[in-house]
Amino acid sequence: MQSLKELYKIGMGPSSSHTMGPRKAAEQFAAAHPQAVSFKATLYGSLAATGKGHLTDFAIKEGFEPRPVTIDWEPTVFLPTHPNALRLQALDKADHVLAQTTVYSIGGGEIMDDQHHTQPPASVYPHRSMSEILDYTAQHRMLLWEYVEECEDPAIWDYLTTVWNTMQETMQRGLDKRGVLPGSLNLERKARRYLHNAEQSPQFLRRMNNLFAYALACAEENASGGQVVTAPTCGSSGVVPAVCRQIKEIYGFEDITIIHALATAGLFGNLAKTNASISGAEVGCQGEIGVACAMAAAAACQLEGGDNRRIAYAAEMGLEHHLGLTCDPVDGLVQIPCIERNALAASRALDCATYALISDGEHRISYDNVLATMMQTGLDMKKEYRETAKGGLARFFKKKLFRFKRKSRLRKMKNK
Ligand code: SF4
Repeated sequence: MQSLKELYKIGMGPSSSHTMGPRKAAEQFAAAHPQAVSFKATLYGSLAATGKGHLTDFAIKEGFEPRPVTIDWEPTVFLPTHPNALRLQALDKADHVLAQTTVYSIGGGEIMDDQHHTQPPASVYPHRSMSEILDYTAQHRMLLWEYVEECEDPAIWDYLTTVWNTMQETMQRGLDKRGVLPGSLNLERKARRYLHNAEQSPQFLRRMNNLFAYALACAEENASGGQVVTAPTCGSSGVVPAVCRQIKEIYGFEDITIIHALATAGLFGNLAKTNASISGAEVGCQGEIGVACAMAAAAACQLEGGDNRRIAYAAEMGLEHHLGLTCDPVDGLVQIPCIERNALAASRALDCATYALISDGEHRISYDNVLATMMQTGLDMKKEYRETAKGGLARFFKKKLFRFKRKSRLRKMKNK
C-alpha cells in the first residue's frame, strides 16, 4: 500500500476520476512533449459518457494550457483495461501525430499508463490486509494510527494537518454560499439553510442537522468545481469531514486527535483502493460512498474510544451496508444522488461506530471479506450502473429532465 498522501489528495471537484486524473494525465503528457504545437484527447467509456457533466473537458484544457487541445467523445467504446480511458496525442503544426499514449483514470485522481503500470510511488506499508494489520498491531500493542506513524514518513502529520485544514475550509465555503449549483438541474445549495435550521432545532435534531449541513457543504463545493480533499474520492468527499467536525464539536477534541483519526480512516480507504476499487466507473457508488462511510465509521469509532477490533468492525459495517450501491448520477452531474448520499452516509457512519462500540468487537465478516465482495459485486454490475448516467436514477430522470428543459425553452421563447 502506498502512502496516505496518495489517498487524500487536494484538488478541484467534481470528480477525482473525471477531473483530477485526466488533468494529471494531460499535464504529464504536455510536459513530456514540449515540441508539440497542439494536442488531441479522445475520451472513452464512462469518462466520455459523464465527462461533460463532470467537467472533464475543462480539466483537460487546463492541463494542456496554454497549448490548444481538441476533444473527441466516444461514450459507447469501452477499452478492456478500465472503463475510464483516454487517448492523448501530441500534434505538430501540420496536425501530424508526434506521439500518443492511452491512460486510464482509475479513481481517487490516480492514473495508469497503457503498459498497465501504475505510475505512483512505491508501497510504504508492509501488510496487505486488515487481518494482517490487526494481528501485527495486537502483537505490538499498537493503535492503528500508531501503525500509520510507524510505516509512513514523519512528514505525514504535516500532510494530514493540511488535509484537515483544507477539509474545514471547503466546508466553511460551502456553509457560507447560497444560490444554485452549476449545470442543468438548477439544484439549490442547501447547506447554509440546513445549518440555519439546525440552530432552531431541539438538541437531538440539532446534532443530526449539523451533520447533514457539514456533509452537504463539502459535497456542494465539490459539485461546483471547488477545492476538496478526496476521501476517498471527490464525489464522496463530504462524509469524513462532516463526521470529524461533528465529533470534534461534541467532545471538544484538539486537532491532533482528529488528525490521528484521519490516519486510521485513511488505512481503510487505502486498503479499498489497493485490494478492490474506489472508482465509481469500475464498481459503482459502493466504492465511493461505501468506502467513505467505512473510513468515517473507523474515524468515529476511534474518536469515541473504540479499540482496533471495534474500529475494524465499524468500518466493515460502513461498507457492508452499502454493497450493491450503483453509480447513477442524473444528467452526468455529481449532484443527484451524490450530494444527499454524502449526508446520509455520514449519519450511517456514526451509527456503525455506535453499534461497534456497544459490541465486543467480534464479527464474522472481516473488512477484507467485504472488500472482496464489493469488488466482485462491482464487476457483476451492468455498465449502465457504473458512472455512465444510463441506468438507475439517471435513466428514470432523463425523460423528466428532457420535459423540464423543453418547457423552460418554450417559456423563454414565449417571454421574448
Ligand atoms: S453516484 Fe456515487 S459514485 Fe456516482 S458520481 Fe455520484 S458519488 Fe460518485
